[in-house]
Amino acid sequence: MEAVSDAAGTASATPARKIGWAGMAPFILIHLLALGAFWTGVTAEAAICCVALYFIRMFGVTGAYHRYFSHRTYRTSRVFQFFLAFLAQTSAQRGALWWASHHRHHHRYSDQPEDTHSVAQDGFWYSHVLWIFEDRNQKTELKYIPDLARFPELRFLDKYYLLPPIMLGTAIFFWLGASGLFFGFFVSTVLLWHGTFTINSLSHVFGKRRFATTDNSRNNWLLAIITMGEGWHNNHHHYCVSTRQGFYWYEYDFTYYILKVLSWMGLVWKLQPVPAKVLEEGRARGGQSAPLPALNLRSTLEAASEMASLQRPVPVRISSDRA
Ligand SMILES: [Zn+2]
Ligand SMILES: [Zn+2]
Repeated sequence: MEAVSDAAGTASATPARKIGWAGMAPFILIHLLALGAFWTGVTAEAAICCVALYFIRMFGVTGAYHRYFSHRTYRTSRVFQFFLAFLAQTSAQRGALWWASHHRHHHRYSDQPEDTHSVAQDGFWYSHVLWIFEDRNQKTELKYIPDLARFPELRFLDKYYLLPPIMLGTAIFFWLGASGLFFGFFVSTVLLWHGTFTINSLSHVFGKRRFATTDNSRNNWLLAIITMGEGWHNNHHHYCVSTRQGFYWYEYDFTYYILKVLSWMGLVWKLQPVPAKVLEEGRARGGQSAPLPALNLRSTLEAASEMASLQRPVPVRISSDRA
């Protein structure tokens, strides 16, 4: 562990962040390719494709990467498990095993110095996107996912994680042409990335805290729309093993609705409910916002003011000498 200095010059015990900029090249390239839609124009089919691919793949992110692989909140067959991993990976957010291992780490150390992506610890940009390119986060940490790593087909997908998005992009190109590829696929992919990333960044800063969790997680209705239910993030950090994250009827959770339909079809089963005790505890709070954990209060206020100005540099150590 090494001390780093933030903009105010105060030393902290946060580990030095080594970001491999070379690894960011494909990520930046996809952003630039999305701009190619200005050159191709946007056909009606490409626009529909963009919206459809956003929501279908968002379900892959939330229903598969998150609620199945990371938290095992329901059960399914081995074949459908493979399908879920493939669908999730068309979002180009690396392998299901990589995603789950880092997400389990997040829950274990949420908003503590060890957290993989914490606004409170490392600022907005780091928690939103830069953490993905940090050297120490490149590996799939098998020790966090022994239950998943025993499937060779999942290890194969994790190793060749670019196969699903490349196959999808190629299919869209042959089906809908250049406009389909640039607007339907690339623009949709960029929107999907940043929509997903808001849960690591914004939902630990903006929104209401129903439960007094040990991290800074919030419930945010707008983020719940963008992410098909993931915006109820304070609920989720309080009780992360239930399939639904919107705990009450008025907390819409489109991922859960889809999983419910899939359970009626027999494709998934054993959806985990929210215990009555947890629901009562939430009702008893009567709309009051729970306090922030004392240790994180100062850092969260700093993070919020950073986002307001976006002028405070993120305390990261930059390095281009990747292994
Ligand atoms: Zn989670
Ligand atoms: Zn979180």
